Order: sequence, then C-alpha cells, then structure tokens
Amino acid sequence: MSLHLITGVSGQDGAYLAAQLLARGEHVLGTRRAGAQAGTLWRLRALGIEGHARLQLLQIDLADAAACRELLSARPYALYHLAAQSRVAESLRDPQASLLANGLVTRNLLEALHASSPQTRFVFASSAELFGHAREVPQSEATPFAPANPYAQAKHYAHRLTQQYRSEQGVHASCAILFNHESPLRAPDFVTRKIAAAAVRLSRGSDSTPLALGNLAAQRDFGYAPEYVAAMAAMAERAHGDDYVLATGVATSIRRFAELAFAAAGIALQWQGEGAAEHALDAAGRTLLQVDPALFRPHDAPLLVGDARRARAELGFAPRTDVAALARLMVEAERQR
Ligand code: NAP
Repeated sequence: MSLHLITGVSGQDGAYLAAQLLARGEHVLGTRRAGAQAGTLWRLRALGIEGHARLQLLQIDLADAAACRELLSARPYALYHLAAQSRVAESLRDPQASLLANGLVTRNLLEALHASSPQTRFVFASSAELFGHAREVPQSEATPFAPANPYAQAKHYAHRLTQQYRSEQGVHASCAILFNHESPLRAPDFVTRKIAAAAVRLSRGSDSTPLALGNLAAQRDFGYAPEYVAAMAAMAERAHGDDYVLATGVATSIRRFAELAFAAAGIALQWQGEGAAEHALDAAGRTLLQVDPALFRPHDAPLLVGDARRARAELGFAPRTDVAALARLMVEAERQR
C-alpha cells in the first residue's frame, strides 16, 4: 500500500478522494490550513473517515516553501493538489490572496516535489474557468485559455507551471481541467447547494423567504464529484502525466437546475417576468425564487461545457450521474440534514 498526499483534504473533493483511496487500502496524508477549525472536518465525518487509522491529518501553511519541502520528505506515491481559494467571487474581493493560495502555493509544492521526491506523481486541480469567454464550444484540452477573473488567472499560472514541470523537469504531472462538479458535500454557499437547501426549506413551508439568485441563464456543465475525483486518482496511475478535461458535456442553466431540485422536493416551479424581474412561483402562487442583480458576476463565463473524450478514452471516465439525478441526491441529503 502506498502513501497518497492530498492538499485540501477537508474540501468536497479532498474528502471524497480520501474516502476512495482509503477504501482501496491506501494510506492518506491530508493537509488542512494552519489554524483550521475542527468544524471544517464535517465532510470527513459525513463520509465516516474522520479518525480512520490510515488517514493522517496535518495542519500546514502551504505558502511556506520550507514547510512544503518538509511535507514532501514523506515521499508520497502521489500528491493531489486540491487546496485552493475555490470561489471566483472571493478572488474578485481579494485577488492577492487568490494568487498566493492558487498560484504560488502550487509553485512551492512543485519545487519541493522536484527537489525531495521526484518520483511522486502530481495531480493539479485546474479549472474550466481558465477558458473564460471561451472561443469554442465545447471546450477540450486544445481550446485556448482566456482566464477572466483572479481565480482563473492564478489557476492558469499554476496550470502552466504544472505543464512546465512535466515537459522540462520530467515530473509525472497532470492537470485535471475540472468543470463544475457538485455533491451533498458542496459548501453551503455554492449555488447548487443553496438551491437544494431552499427547495427542502420551502417545501416544508416553515420559512417562506424566497431564495435570491444571480444570473438564471448562466449555464454550467454539472457533474458529480465522486466520479471526478476517481478520474483524478486514475491520472496518477497512467504511465505519463497529461491534461484532461473532466466534464459531462451537457450544459444546464441555473434556472433548469432550480426546476430539477424543486421538482425533487415535490414543487413544480412556474416562471414569470424577465431579467431582474424574473421569479418563480409554486402552484399556490407563492414566490419561491427571485433574481437579485447584486449576485451577478461582473465577467461571468457564458457557456462552459466540456469535451471529455480524452479522459473517457484514457482514464475510463464515464460520468453516470446526470444533472437530474444529481439534483435529487442533493435534495435528499438536505432532507436528511
Ligand atoms: P472546496 O470544497 O472549496 O475545498 C477547498 C479546500 O482548500 C478546502 O480544504 C479548504 O480548506 C482549502 N483551502 C481554502 N483556502 C485555502 C488556502 N488559502 N490555503 C490552503 N487551503 C485552502 O473545493 P472543491 O470543490 O473540493 O475543489 C477542489 C479543487 O478543485 C480546488 O482547487 C478547486 O479550485 C478545484 N475546482 C473545483 C471545481 C468544482 O466544481 N468543485 C471546479 C473547478 C476546479 P477549508 O476547509 O479550511 O476552507
């Protein structure tokens, strides 16, 4: 059994990946932010792996290059770099923190890996946000990048660096170009989780405050997180590192995702109005959803939908959970909560 290092183990993907690797019998060393609160371990708890005998947790400041070198002295078989300031909106508020967490931290890890553990296989959680206002639809590994916000710009830097360590330093390094992937373990402030929670809350009728949403027409390619992290683990098993789009190939608007989630909670939404006045009612005429222009992103990427043929052919990536099933899973989890 080998040692697998996961940065950001307390996040959605980190938790699912740790659970999958532990189920395979591997040892997992997972990093958390220095000073992270115990409350951030809720995902590990939900998956039943908190306190697992083969799971070691370490609090570390990944911006500290010496600490990264020390970390890599454990010589893991693979390093999955998932830790990130993962919200575009937050990166717009604090671009410097985004550049540090998403860009320079990746450099620290790659330098430490190259110096202390060159055999370690590196998998970087890149993002479809790199395509920005994409020049073609769907987007593949060959589509030019046009990052349009600080989150994407920092990820772009880290993505290029990962490619450079692969081509110039011979590191087994891969970039997972991740399109949106959701699950019941999504952070509560992400739009899909907000919608699932509101569907359950409003179906119970105890609190009738409508949910405010941004751009209802924004389309995303929504996949299911456990299937995406399995593909990231498969990248580490390939003979060589490479770049892989992970996506379903199906674009769904926020409006449609809301319809699916509310349907899963037993409510058929009826839309009225247009633009900022658009809102959704239930059969009794209650307003359940409304638009808040303050939630619009200044440079929202209009149509991100991925072409994952390479991952399909080389990693056996075959997303099975469609967006309706995903909405049902998320609503069911909210019900249980
Ligand atoms: P997530 O749930 O937000 O988890 C992010 C992890 O990074 C958490 O463990 C978080 O720790 C940690 N983190 C946050 N800020 C940090 C900082 N400044 N320094 C060190 N660690 C920090 O994200 P996810 O959905 O699992 O995503 C995993 C990776 O895939 C991220 O790199 C994300 O950018 C990328 N990605 C995800 C998607 C998606 O749809 N999920 C799409 C494209 C790319 P705390 O728990 O302490 O906050």
